[in-house]
Amino acid sequence: MVGESYRCGNCGAPLDITPETIATVCSYCGHLNWIREDLKEEVLMVSPIEEGKALEKLLEFASRRGLAEVFKKVNLSRATFVAVPFYFVDASAEAVYSGRVAVQVRRCRKERNRERCWVDTRSVYVNGVYGPYSSTVPVVARRGSDLVSVKALADRYMGSRVGAVPLGRVELDKSMWRGVLSIEIDGKTAMDIALDTHLDRLRELVEDYMRREAEQRVRRRGENVVGSSIVWRRITPMNIKMVSSRPVLLPMYIASYRYGNGMYRSILSGWDGEVVVLERPMKRLERIAWGSLAAVVSGILGGIGFALMDMWVGAVLAILGLAASWHCMRRALSPVKSVLFGSGVALSTRRLTQHRLLRILRGV
Ligand SMILES: [Zn+2]
Repeated sequence: MVGESYRCGNCGAPLDITPETIATVCSYCGHLNWIREDLKEEVLMVSPIEEGKALEKLLEFASRRGLAEVFKKVNLSRATFVAVPFYFVDASAEAVYSGRVAVQVRRCRKERNRERCWVDTRSVYVNGVYGPYSSTVPVVARRGSDLVSVKALADRYMGSRVGAVPLGRVELDKSMWRGVLSIEIDGKTAMDIALDTHLDRLRELVEDYMRREAEQRVRRRGENVVGSSIVWRRITPMNIKMVSSRPVLLPMYIASYRYGNGMYRSILSGWDGEVVVLERPMKRLERIAWGSLAAVVSGILGGIGFALMDMWVGAVLAILGLAASWHCMRRALSPVKSVLFGSGVALSTRRLTQHRLLRILRGV
């Protein structure tokens, strides 16, 4: 912490910053202070709705799913406002590819009175140019934040076309400024991160395409294709184009409810109160996972110190990540308590791997 020497340019209140902080919002007056003046740019924010309205939306959502008893106002134990800074990077790239694909085919032959079948392999060489492939990659403007685990909120934002306005024009309750997380990543770094993500996806798409191309060629010869795998491939990206948005603060509410012996949480999009993630009764293994998170979250939310902000967002992101991993665990466990996603959360976010869940838990 090097916070002692920094004071808010507007009201003079001390600012708590870390060596990574690029810009931070004063928790007393809401003034945006640039610690790294050389990286200064306009910051946008999506205006949040009032907490009360968001909680009403949550109750409506819960009622539709038969959970009105749990998410009643009297059960509310805490609602927390957080605004997470993101960059949205538009990326586009083509790929030159070549490689060899092993295509498995099923062959059969009549032997005396019965048919004998076996699997043969056909080796197919493919090459060409794929793309251009374009996507918008959300990048959390924070150090040590897992990109995929906050995808649920970013997905919803990208799908909702809600407008963001310059931070100076957003009016927040005084207490809410504290929930605005500082910016720790500049636009150029965000583009580097987005490029990795974009090219990873491009590579996956190209590999799928190569396999399909090889399979099709074998099928056209009248063979019965049963599978394929890539033997070797060379994929070279080209014509890469990247544009980053300005930093955009996305608001959300985290609401905790006490019901029976359990705590139930929900993450709501801060601009319309729609449910991003909602907990409902689940099996013991998840209860333990959520339980440890609950301890971390309540410990953190209890404190106000800025040092805790990192862990705070970490926990928030972990909840999102954990929740997002739910669909992967569903196969292994029949739920007593599970997580519901609101609409507008991309399928890719819902289908995160169990591996990620374990990593997040270890991180917590
Ligand atoms: Zn201030």
